[in-house]
Amino acid sequence: MSAGDLFRSAFGSGAFSEFSAPGRVNLIGEHTDYNNGLVLPFAIDARTHVALSRNDLGEVRVVSAQRPEQIRSLRVGEIQPSEGDVDWTDYVYGVFWALTQSGRTLGGVDLAVDSNVPVGAGLSSSAALECAVGLALSTVHGYDVPLPEIARLAQRAENVYVGMPCGLMDQMASATCQAGSVLFFDVGADTCENIPFDTAASGLSVLVIDTKAHHELADGEYAKRRASCEQAAAQLGLKSLRDIEFDGLADALSRLDDDVLIRRVRHIVTENERVRTVVGYLRQGAVSSIGPDLTASHVSLRDDFEVSAEELDIAVDAALSSGALGARMTGGGFGGSVIALVPESVAAAVTDAVLAAFAARSLTTPVVRTVAPATGARAD
Ligand code: ADP
Ligand code: MG
Repeated sequence: MSAGDLFRSAFGSGAFSEFSAPGRVNLIGEHTDYNNGLVLPFAIDARTHVALSRNDLGEVRVVSAQRPEQIRSLRVGEIQPSEGDVDWTDYVYGVFWALTQSGRTLGGVDLAVDSNVPVGAGLSSSAALECAVGLALSTVHGYDVPLPEIARLAQRAENVYVGMPCGLMDQMASATCQAGSVLFFDVGADTCENIPFDTAASGLSVLVIDTKAHHELADGEYAKRRASCEQAAAQLGLKSLRDIEFDGLADALSRLDDDVLIRRVRHIVTENERVRTVVGYLRQGAVSSIGPDLTASHVSLRDDFEVSAEELDIAVDAALSSGALGARMTGGGFGGSVIALVPESVAAAVTDAVLAAFAARSLTTPVVRTVAPATGARAD
C-alpha cells in the first residue's frame, strides 16, 4: 500500500500532498558526528513516504503502514516531550514539537506513513521518517524551511522527544543528500559538500548486508560511548575530540590514563583521518582505492570503540575473504548492517559467501542489497 492509499483508507477521500525522505548508509566516519568530526554518508534508494493534509480538528492524527494499529491522535496542545517508553509516533510528534519550538505555528493534520526503509537495520528509518515529516509539516503550513534546518529540527526531535542522543549525520544525510554523490559533512565546521561517488564507472558495487541482528543494549551503549568521548575531551581540556589533530594523537593519548578512554579517542581521531583519506581518493575518482580504509574503520570500531557485534564481524570477514575490496559495519553498531565495496564481477560470490557463513552458524539469514546514492528529502 502506498502512503496515499493508506491516507485515503484512514482519513477519507480528501486531497493530500506527498513528501518523502530516504534512508542512508554511511560510507565512513562512524561515531564521529557527535564529536564534531567528519562523516561521509549517502542516501539510499529506499524511502519513507508521507501523505498528509491539514484538518480543522486541532488534532494530529497519524497512521503507518508499518504499524498494525489504528489511527493515533494527539491534540495540538498535548504535543510535548514526556517520560516513558519510546513509541513510533514520538518520531512524528517530536518533529511537530521541534517545528513549533522553532517559532512556527502548526495546526491539526492527518498524516499517513509508508516506507520501504527497513526498520532498525542501521539504515536510519528514524531519520527518514523525521525528515519526511519535517518537510511535509512545514510545507503544508506554508513554511519554506531550508533542508539543513529540517535536519537540525529532526535531530532535536530525536534527542529531546524520543530521548536518543544521536548526532546530526543521519538527518543531514536524509534531508540533503544528492543522487550520485556522497555527502562530506564536517560537523564542527558546519560545511557540507557533495562528492561524486560513481561506483559503476569503476566496475564496483556497494552491497548492504542487513544482518537482522538487533542487540538490545544498542541505545544505552550509544549514550555511554558519547559520554566517554565527552569525558575524554574534558580531561584533555578540549571542546570536542575533533580538536585533536591526527599528528597530535600520540601526545593526546599520553595525557589520558584510562585504557578505555584511550581506545575511544584513538578511534575517533583515526576515523576522522580515514574520512579525509577516502575523500581524497574520491576527489581523484579512485573509488577502488578506498577499500583498506573501510576495513580499517571496521577494525577500529570493533577493537577500539567496541560497538561491533558477532554478526557484523562475520559478515565483514566473509565479504573480505570472498573478494570484497573493503567492508565495515555502518551505523551505530551492536547489530544492523555492513557495507562491502565489491567488484561487480564478484558481487554474487560475496553474497553467497555471506549467506553461507551465516547458515554455517545457524544465524538468521541476512538480506543483501545493492545500493546506489539517491536523492534526499523532497516533495513528491
Ligand atoms: P533505524 O533508524 O536504524 O532504522 P531506530 O531504532 O533509530 O533504527 O529507528 C527505528 C524506529 O523508528 C522504529 O522502531 C519506529 O519507532 C520508527 N519508525 C521508523 N520508520 C517507521 C515507519 N515506517 N512507521 C512507523 N515507525 C517507524
Ligand atoms: Mg535511527
